[in-house]
Amino acid sequence: MILNFDNVLLFIEPKTDKSNEPVDDEMTLFIEKLLNDAIANKSKTMGVVLQNGSWYEGVSTKGWHTCRCKQTSSPHNYEIYKGIYTNSLAAHYLRSHRNEIPEVELHKVRNLMQKVSNNL
Ligand SMILES: [Zn+2]
Repeated sequence: MILNFDNVLLFIEPKTDKSNEPVDDEMTLFIEKLLNDAIANKSKTMGVVLQNGSWYEGVSTKGWHTCRCKQTSSPHNYEIYKGIYTNSLAAHYLRSHRNEIPEVELHKVRNLMQKVSNNL
C-alpha cells in the first residue's frame, strides 16, 4: 500500500532489491530511534493507518507487508510522534532503499526532525 499524506511517513513500495550500500545517516537513525521508542511503548503507539490516511488506534493490520527484498513488517503501524504515523519498515526503507524514496517523503522526514528538535 502506497500512501501520501502529510502526517503519514514512508508508506512506499520499493521496486528494486535493497542497496549494497546501506545509508546510516542522521535521517535513518532518527526514524529508527522514534520507531524503536514507539515499539517499546506499543500499547500506546500501535494502530493502523487506513487507506484514507486516518489513524485507527490500538488495532493490528490484517497481515504484514513484505518488502521487495523479503524483509517483513510487523502487523502494526506506529504513532512515532504526536499525530505522525509510519510503518515498521520505515527505517529499513531509509537505510536500504534510499535511492527509491521519493523526495516528498524525505522532505516529511526532515520536517519531523526539525519539529522534534524545536520541541526539545
Ligand atoms: Zn527492503
